[in-house]
Amino acid sequence: MNSEEIRQYLTFYQDLGVKEIYRRRAATAVAGAEPVEIVQSIPELLPLAPDGDTLLRIREDLGDCKRCRLCEGRAKIVFGSGDEKARLVFVGEGPGADEDAQGFPFVGRAGQLLTQMIDNTASKEGVPIRRPDVYICNVVKCRPPENRTPLPDEMEICGEFLFRQLLAIKPKAICALGSTAAKALLATKDGVTRLRGKWHKWRDIPLIVTYHPSYLLRPYNQDAKREAWDDLKKVLHYVYD
Ligand code: URA
Repeated sequence: MNSEEIRQYLTFYQDLGVKEIYRRRAATAVAGAEPVEIVQSIPELLPLAPDGDTLLRIREDLGDCKRCRLCEGRAKIVFGSGDEKARLVFVGEGPGADEDAQGFPFVGRAGQLLTQMIDNTASKEGVPIRRPDVYICNVVKCRPPENRTPLPDEMEICGEFLFRQLLAIKPKAICALGSTAAKALLATKDGVTRLRGKWHKWRDIPLIVTYHPSYLLRPYNQDAKREAWDDLKKVLHYVYD
């Protein structure tokens, strides 16, 4: 590895919340004895993202995932859907009941609203795209029980796959839907109200935060709806103009 690769590798694990790393100790020679290979008790860290990583390969690596407790209640893993070469990726929180049953992200009520938001805003703004032209995925790939917010360790474990998805797609921009996605991608505790309306970055990729469609479905959120439409316009024009 050259120094740039090492830097990227360490940044990746730092983004995942890893605070310490361990270096393999060199084999040492004891006077009068054969050199002894020090047995490594810490497993080697996995490569950040294998060269030529693809969504298919990431899905295969995810397999029939049992890395965290969320596997216990899931019906289907919800990996993501859309164009592998999308210039815009939306990241939600985690599957709900409809997504869990069908295996695809944002297919329930919140999903219908997201589809309308993308299709209608694009059409009004003269941006020639529809929902299938973007890529949509979640921070966690399995439905949390009772639709609770994913726990930090669940986000950390699944984050490896989300980050690989983003690195494989290399979109021109990312739209984080809601505070869980913002937390996973920006390592922030700030809420959406504070984060929205301005550009952030995940690695070198411009990122915008907006309200989660489920939040917009609640009554009395007219102002938030207007703001979400503004955010969407901003990101669509940035990506497709
Ligand atoms: N909410 C999400 O965050 N993701 C989905 O896929 C569906 C609802």
